[in-house]
Amino acid sequence: MEETKLKPSCSTRVLILGGSSEATALARALVGRADIAATLSLAGRTLAPIAQPVPTRSGGFGGIDGLVAYLRAERIDLLVDATHPFAARIAHHARAAARLAGCTILKLSRPAWSPQPGDVWHEVATMDEAVTAIGVAPRRVFLTVGSLRLDAFTQAPQHHYLVRTIDPLRTGHGLAHADLIEARGPFDVAAEQRLMRDHRIEVLVTKNSGGDASAAKLVVARKLGLPVVLLRRPEAGTASTSLNDTLAAIEAHRASARRGV
Ligand code: NAP
Repeated sequence: MEETKLKPSCSTRVLILGGSSEATALARALVGRADIAATLSLAGRTLAPIAQPVPTRSGGFGGIDGLVAYLRAERIDLLVDATHPFAARIAHHARAAARLAGCTILKLSRPAWSPQPGDVWHEVATMDEAVTAIGVAPRRVFLTVGSLRLDAFTQAPQHHYLVRTIDPLRTGHGLAHADLIEARGPFDVAAEQRLMRDHRIEVLVTKNSGGDASAAKLVVARKLGLPVVLLRRPEAGTASTSLNDTLAAIEAHRASARRGV
């Protein structure tokens, strides 16, 4: 685990759990504040994470207990879970650890995508359901579901897959017919349309991540009349807020701390 931190002692200590553009936006909004010392935490999975405007730490905490120990050792006042909407484990750990450490927790998350006229969406809860939803007949499938559960699609070797991930896959994917591409968003509609046309894509399989950076593929699917198999988000245990609401909640927390509430 690597650590780069410099915190003034009398400021509000904020730990942002990151790995999302929302976390970076929050860090950007807090940078330079003398009264707030923000640290951003990354899981450390991405080979070349984008530069962050506040000090960062990288790597897992070691479960709930590890996170509790970190919150206590660093005297964190506010924990902001700004992880990706599909990062369910760390979200659960954050809620539990904040409760145990007596630390305020906020959830910062982008809204989910909702269907627009012309969309042909098949919403599913699991990767196995996504495999079934593609159907039995061989199809050309654009898979943008990350790299962790690609094994589910080995159950359907009749399809040809175009797999897009941020980093190269570290282990074999086990897919009989696949093209692999690495790219990091934001993606625009023209480029997505070119890619999907060039690969003669018939079905898109993706997660309902929400946000603008990766929405272009859905716009293209709508334009081309392609079906989309969309993984629903895991249940969120803490009400989500926007960046502005999160910033307001941080100010409210500071105000009540000053009043000794
Ligand atoms: P996850 O399953 O919810 O978490 C797995 C473990 O990774 C956690 O138990 C924790 O390890 C560690 N971890 C996760 N986020 C962390 C953070 N911000 N700081 C320190 N440790 C963290 O997470 P995931 O779905 O694998 O996602 C990993 C990271 O990638 C997250 O930061 C997430 O925001 C980002 N991301 C995820 C997705 C997605 O689709 N899941 C997409 C884009 C980005 P310990 O138990 O040891 O603390």
